[in-house]
Amino acid sequence: MLTIAVSKGRIYEDALPLLEAAGIVPLDNPKTSRKLILATTRPDVQLVIIRATDVPTFVEYGAADLGVAGKDVLLEHGAESLYEPLDLKIAACRLMTATPKDMLEIPKRVRVATKYVKTAQSYFASRGIQAEIIKLYGSMELAPLVGLADCIVDLVDTGNTLKANGLEPRDLIMDISSRLIVNKAAMKMKHQDIQALIDQFKITLAQRSQANL
Ligand code: AMP
Repeated sequence: MLTIAVSKGRIYEDALPLLEAAGIVPLDNPKTSRKLILATTRPDVQLVIIRATDVPTFVEYGAADLGVAGKDVLLEHGAESLYEPLDLKIAACRLMTATPKDMLEIPKRVRVATKYVKTAQSYFASRGIQAEIIKLYGSMELAPLVGLADCIVDLVDTGNTLKANGLEPRDLIMDISSRLIVNKAAMKMKHQDIQALIDQFKITLAQRSQANL
């Protein structure tokens, strides 16, 4: 049995066509079902539906053989304990700093609200900015509005969330997309099955990039 960890929402939606091309179609829809383990049309493959930040943990400990995780989550988790064989090029967005519209530039001493503590710390340190990082678990956009922070670090896609809260994107920290991650022991023990899946994903990704040329 191969177990694949995926988070609900955009990553799940974007991963579905890739999985389908590998003959893996979930038998339940996580939007309407409360099941956390989804059987699929392939009897040897199941999905576990978990929070995005938990995907690397499940895969690291072998509770899932494979997973689909955003690069943002992997940067925070640390990727040494996992294989990351493939950029799936899905759920693409940007990790950015953002400030209130009227802030002219980010000061040399700054308070930053984010859930990306490690990534933000190393980003500001690399720019010689002294940053006090305040860890939040969501609604980062609120922090500058209520005086909790000068600046946030968050994922930006269309920019609508920032705009709706009077913020604007500033500096690009990193382009983000979702990656396939693999448990190190499973890569050895279930090599054939996992490699076949990786190869199929590669074929689909190559077809996609050809179609976009
Ligand atoms: P947007 O308003 O389109 O810029 O989207 C920004 C909001 O969606 C923020 O709250 C982000 O944390 C979240 N978001 C955007 N893209 C992604 C993604 N690829 N994965 C997870 N969350 C995302």
